[in-house]
Amino acid sequence: MDILEKAITMLSKHPLCDNCLGRQFALLGYNMENKDRGKALKLSLTLQANAFHSAKNAEGVKRLKVLAVNGFSREAQDTLRHLKKRIPKKNAPTCFLCDDRFQLFDGLAQKVLNSVANYEYTSFLVGVELPVAVEEREDEFKAAFNVSYGESIRHEFGRLLGKRIAELTGKTTEYMKPDVTVIVNPFTERVRVQVNPLFVAGRYRKLVRDIPQSKWFCSSCRGKGCEKCGGTGKMYPESVEELVSKPLLEAAEGEKTSFHASGREDIDARMLGTGRPFVIEISKPKKRFLDLKKLEVAVNTNAEGKVEVSRFRFTNKDVVRRLKKGESAQKEYRVLIEFENAVSEKDLRLLEEKLSGTSIKQQTPLRVLHRRADLTREKYIYEVKVKKVSLKRAEMKIRCQGGLYVKELVSGDEGRTMPNVSELLGNRAKPLKLDVLNVIME
Ligand SMILES: [Zn+2]
Ligand SMILES: [Zn+2]
Repeated sequence: MDILEKAITMLSKHPLCDNCLGRQFALLGYNMENKDRGKALKLSLTLQANAFHSAKNAEGVKRLKVLAVNGFSREAQDTLRHLKKRIPKKNAPTCFLCDDRFQLFDGLAQKVLNSVANYEYTSFLVGVELPVAVEEREDEFKAAFNVSYGESIRHEFGRLLGKRIAELTGKTTEYMKPDVTVIVNPFTERVRVQVNPLFVAGRYRKLVRDIPQSKWFCSSCRGKGCEKCGGTGKMYPESVEELVSKPLLEAAEGEKTSFHASGREDIDARMLGTGRPFVIEISKPKKRFLDLKKLEVAVNTNAEGKVEVSRFRFTNKDVVRRLKKGESAQKEYRVLIEFENAVSEKDLRLLEEKLSGTSIKQQTPLRVLHRRADLTREKYIYEVKVKKVSLKRAEMKIRCQGGLYVKELVSGDEGRTMPNVSELLGNRAKPLKLDVLNVIME
């Protein structure tokens, strides 16, 4: 069917605004909006009807009346008036498909804009939510008129709102990882804002031996606060997580933070060298354009002598995933060992020889058995170097696969770690101080 015939058939049945008529022909013609398509169709139909009338075809006036009412067309009304024909006095109908919602478009766009006015963002996405009845009505309409060049009403609303917001703000539409997503219902005018998290990556060094990596809830009250924890709800007053997160959370004016790190050291182990990679995820940040250099300084001043951060940079969720995978990346440790009996240089060379390039079979250590499944892991040691410190003391440096429990490599953990230092020398060995020297990301 000719598209003008199709358009007038639609209008004869239902009132349609320019957007809703044009949308049924959205795939025809480039670089124009549905509103202009609808308008063009109505104007063409007005000319055609006028020509019909001139040729004494009664269809002419009949069509002009349809256009004047169901097409909301002033041009058709004026033409009828010029032809001295009666203009149908029907109460202004509303558009069958959109309930005249496209007429309220400017207000809706402003509402979307206001909803994100308090947030900093560079990219956004507009999602549209419609009452089920509206979408069903359009589906039935399309089926009845065999619409094959059309766009959906949801798509048109989303596209137009996205375009308008981009024009007004200079921000860009982003489908995969937008900073903010706005969900709009053009019918109820309800607007919901989803603010996506902000990710900041960095490295931390832990310079003292009594701070856990993450906030550790009190085992008696599980965070509520009790006598045992002095009402704090925590086992330790401070953690790397808290020391690092607080200034970031405050600067971003976010809701909360999550701390993701590549593995963790024991509470009594220091984290030295270039530090351990981590990512802080800040939920619902109002501010995203943070001065990370300044924040590094703020964290380091606040945590002076305890924790030190470096290499702050913005990152994304993918990096968190990679960080978690990289938990078993190579690590370098230094451990001070005390032996029950004196050790000789020969003993120490033997340790280097037997432990370098060796796979260690390690059953879950007794000390963590209460929170970890009991199973045997195999971890590879690349290199071991041992230096004598005194008669019964030595310092051992180990470069190994992440996840090896170094204290148990020394003690043997009642035979649960094999081989181990105690067993190799037949001399009971005890780890005194442990430091992580390096976390090597590939
Ligand atoms: Zn409409
Ligand atoms: Zn408590």
